[in-house]
Amino acid sequence: MVRIISSYLQRTTLRCISSIKGQSLPRRFQPIFRLEHTRTLHDEISKPTSSESTATESIESESIESESTEPDLAESQGGESEPADPSVRWEAYNKNFIDLTKNQATPMVGYLPGQEVTVHGFIHKRRDVSSNLSFCELTNASDYNSRKRIQIISTWSEDGSRQFLAHQDLRTIPAYSPVIVTGTLQEPPYTTQKPGSARKWDLKLRSIHCLNPFPKDIIVSKDAVWPPHQRHLQLRFDPLLRDRLRLRSSLQTTITKYLQSKNFIQVDTPLLFKSTPEGAREFLVPTRREGYAYALPQSPQQYKQILMAGGITRYYQFAKCFRDEDHRADRQPEFTQLDIEMAFANGFDVIKLVSNLLAKIFLSLSEKWSPTNINGIRHPVYVGVDETLPRGPKKKKKDQEAPGPGDGITRYPRIQYKDIGFMTYSQAMKHFGTDKPDMRIIHPYITNIRGTIHLKLPQEFIQKITSLEDPYVEMMKLRLGLSPYAAGEFIRKFMDSLPNNTTVKLSPESTPAVLVYDSSKPLNGLSAFGHESADRFEEFTKLEESHYHGCKDGDIIIIHARKRETFHGSSTWLGRLRKALYDDAVKKGFIPQNNSFKALWVTEFPLFTPNGDNADPGQGGTAGLSSTHHPFTAPLTGRDFFAAKAQPLEVKADHYDLVINGVEVGGGSRRIHVAKHQDFIMREVLKMTEEGMAEFSHLFEALRAGCPPHAGFAFGFDRLMAVLCDVPSIKDVIAFPKTNKGEDLMVGSPAKITREQRKTYYMFQESESAPESESELAPESKPESTSEPEPTTEPEPTTEPEPTTEPTTEPEKDQELNA
Ligand code: ASP
Repeated sequence: MVRIISSYLQRTTLRCISSIKGQSLPRRFQPIFRLEHTRTLHDEISKPTSSESTATESIESESIESESTEPDLAESQGGESEPADPSVRWEAYNKNFIDLTKNQATPMVGYLPGQEVTVHGFIHKRRDVSSNLSFCELTNASDYNSRKRIQIISTWSEDGSRQFLAHQDLRTIPAYSPVIVTGTLQEPPYTTQKPGSARKWDLKLRSIHCLNPFPKDIIVSKDAVWPPHQRHLQLRFDPLLRDRLRLRSSLQTTITKYLQSKNFIQVDTPLLFKSTPEGAREFLVPTRREGYAYALPQSPQQYKQILMAGGITRYYQFAKCFRDEDHRADRQPEFTQLDIEMAFANGFDVIKLVSNLLAKIFLSLSEKWSPTNINGIRHPVYVGVDETLPRGPKKKKKDQEAPGPGDGITRYPRIQYKDIGFMTYSQAMKHFGTDKPDMRIIHPYITNIRGTIHLKLPQEFIQKITSLEDPYVEMMKLRLGLSPYAAGEFIRKFMDSLPNNTTVKLSPESTPAVLVYDSSKPLNGLSAFGHESADRFEEFTKLEESHYHGCKDGDIIIIHARKRETFHGSSTWLGRLRKALYDDAVKKGFIPQNNSFKALWVTEFPLFTPNGDNADPGQGGTAGLSSTHHPFTAPLTGRDFFAAKAQPLEVKADHYDLVINGVEVGGGSRRIHVAKHQDFIMREVLKMTEEGMAEFSHLFEALRAGCPPHAGFAFGFDRLMAVLCDVPSIKDVIAFPKTNKGEDLMVGSPAKITREQRKTYYMFQESESAPESESELAPESKPESTSEPEPTTEPEPTTEPEPTTEPTTEPEKDQELNA
């Protein structure tokens, strides 16, 4: 490892040196030398503020914080200016090479007061209290979970002494630089540690060495949000982001251990796959063979089924998946799935396994992490296991968001198998208007959605709200504890905002009727219903099983009409409205924030969805249908299989989704494992073309070879993490996310391709025709007979493309080309 690092450093240095000699630099090294700056935090000269302060000052005190850099000394360790004399310059470069093997960090376990230790880490802003007393916090690089905090204390009494020299060194090093520090540990005098807070140590400075000074032009301010192209700084200065990545890694370990204990094996499947009409839009990877491209997998679905046919009967993988979809908050063109497949298993076996796995995930979360309110977000802070509790899962109590009985730290609630609900897709759509109900939305605040047939609403009323011929009219009720006037204001404002609402656009087929219950008005404000229906409504709300809790002043009743038809798609208009109203009412404090996790299995989805409901290309069949999940999903029963051709939209699938707090965190299905059944669904029901089906010939072959019954599931791992971390976007749990345009601005991807590359990879814009003469092509990419699979010559290494020197290509067109 050390050798790898030092050879990298050497290479880096050589590159830097060659640039100084006037040679051109690779693009990523250039900005370092272009930086210019006027004012920096590190320029400020220290001003002793209190000579009375002592070395016992609290690490948290910000009051006398100052940044000092004595300019002459700055040159020796932290300065950036380049010495003119080359030998001196070499000296300066050399300073950054310190042999870490000779200066290893002392393991933190077993730190003792009085012990001399070496610590690696980043120093923070220094506080100079007087000319011979400074404090500086240090982020310890080897303290994985930031549970121990170290404060450097630097003092000296004798000019020229070791402490004096170390003190001078400390004062030259810019804040945020990586350092090696040696010193003597001392227990801070304020030994009473707050429960759950990090353990603190003071380190009496003996020596300090700067490994690479933090540059002056990067201004660090508290809680800064760095632009996407400075993701490295976001990672460095956003401890919350680092916490989330740590939790992510820690849960990956928990999951791996659990699945391996259940005899699952991790198999890596190829990323260079091929284009198949599985459902989603893919990314293509051009090759040097004309007319040929790989496709990146939208999921390892086909490979994992082939593994089942191959006798690898329990598979899992943290798999990278790629989908060329419209970018939304919860989508990324590349994302991570925890992908699972089991042979000799049905859907329920998978549901059991995944439920138990989820329980393990929550156990691990609650054992070591504490939900901590930071800027309105319940952020996971590592607190470690409760040392006061006896070990062993059986002895631990199920902790519901309360301070632990032992160490007093609030823990995450746990979810066990029995806490996970079950609901069919039809029930979910009927009662919640969505296939991913948020089970925190509960009565009496917001009721479920109910049909209104029993109210016998007058025709005139129905005709006022909809133009549909034979509509299905449904309703729900809100109770926000407001007066009729305030409730009216709330709902009016909300409805007025709908044209700007991206999730609840106004429905073209029905205008919602909104009534506010008000006992001071005729028919209690329900006169639009007419006498009889208003009475029936009141009677209905009093029934215990209605869960409508009677009627109270300020209750808001919403009635809406939709087409009377079998459900398809992922939500109804009223369902979307219900969720948006809940979010708004919680935001405004009318409904209390519910911090629990409510998990739910939604089962029995329709096997097919009409094409109009689907943004994805689907399977390209001519039946006007696509598979709701994917074309390998098995019909729920034999009866569903046989009904598939005549009534495809009525057929149910053995397809299940896992939903937590209204977010679909994963989905899976039992697969068709018999080749002729798969052929029937693709050919007879979806009416796929011969060419489309031929793309799946590998799968047919695998199924035909005695493939056992199998079923599987995939967690959208980023989504699961976003739910656990209580963040609105999966970008907050990904180290290097892409922007809404699918770009990584840090590295500059996707990157423009050169004319040379376009030739090599046979990529032409519409305006360009394929090169006519062979001489126009790159030598390695001459057209060959397609039976010859691979060109033998290696391509010339392309020189670093300089986008600005490429005059002929129009940016827009290139974007299209890359898409
Ligand atoms: N491959 C499926 C998906 O990506 C998950 C599964 O069915 O296992 O959604």
